[in-house]
Amino acid sequence: MIPVREELKKKARAEGLWNMFLPPSSYEDDEFRGAGLSNLEYAALAEVMGRIGWASEVFNCSAPDTGNVEVPLRYGTKEQKRLWLRPLMAGEIRSAFLMTEPAVASSDATNIETRIERGGDHYLINGRKWWSSGVGDPRCKIAILMGKTDPKAARHQQHSQILVPLDTRGITIERMLSVFGYDDAPHGHAQVLLENVRVPVSNLLLGEGRGFEIAQGRLRPGRIHHCMRTMRLANGPDEVHCRAIARLEIRKHASSSN
Ligand SMILES: Cc1cc2nc3c(=O)[nH]c(=O)nc-3n(C[C@H](O)[C@H](O)[C@H](O)COP(=O)(O)OP(=O)(O)OC[C@H]3O[C@@H](n4cnc5c(N)ncnc54)[C@H](O)[C@@H]3O)c2cc1C
Repeated sequence: MIPVREELKKKARAEGLWNMFLPPSSYEDDEFRGAGLSNLEYAALAEVMGRIGWASEVFNCSAPDTGNVEVPLRYGTKEQKRLWLRPLMAGEIRSAFLMTEPAVASSDATNIETRIERGGDHYLINGRKWWSSGVGDPRCKIAILMGKTDPKAARHQQHSQILVPLDTRGITIERMLSVFGYDDAPHGHAQVLLENVRVPVSNLLLGEGRGFEIAQGRLRPGRIHHCMRTMRLANGPDEVHCRAIARLEIRKHASSSN
């Protein structure tokens, strides 16, 4: 934990500059709500926060937590929200999204092989993930994992998403990966082995076979938030190109989610 960042977080929260990435929607309630900004209004702020790698965290607007907040907000049970959404939205913990795997071409997520198998009141998870961003941060307590519950179902109904507390037995961080030579510590991008990881049935999100439904709901805002933050990092001719793409994306999504 970096003390100056924690101080800034307190100030930002007191000013209402908190969870600004969450547009008003029917998923909000009295306890779980954002700052009331539309995606279009948030875009300009994301661009400013994108100037400094860690600035988004000060406003509880950093990846992958923004996408990971939207999952339990939209699809979580009351209990899942109480356990994980509450501390995430309060900026007390951080989170990871475990989808990509070294053994398969993961840009087509139907290839994901990690098994999630039901056994009575629990699920057993076995597989290997990589590029699990944020796992290196000691405050990262929860992962949303995508895996296969039914290999015989229709192609887009084989996968499910499940909440996996990172202190569950059977989880090993095998190594941290680097991006253009940087390890991005303490956040980091990990290769993670899951061996007979046992979580209660109540950790399943939405229902078996509904992983792609959740993935679409998560990726739409997740992608656009990355675009918004990255705009500020682009320079010269790239800047023009990036801005044009990002503005188109923002307009497209803002009109469908406001
Ligand atoms: C910095 C960083 C952070 C990341 N964070 C996360 C994270 O937090 N969680 C997570 O789950 N993942 C994360 N990822 C992983 C990222 O989502 C994947 O790398 C991406 O989805 C591509 O999957 P892949 O690496 O398996 O590539 P592949 O699917 O193997 O693709 C490699 C190349 O082959 C092409 N290709 C693949 N299949 C075909 C085909 N059938 N025909 C033609 N071309 C094809 C692709 O377009 C691509 O150019 C992160 C990646 C990076 C770099």
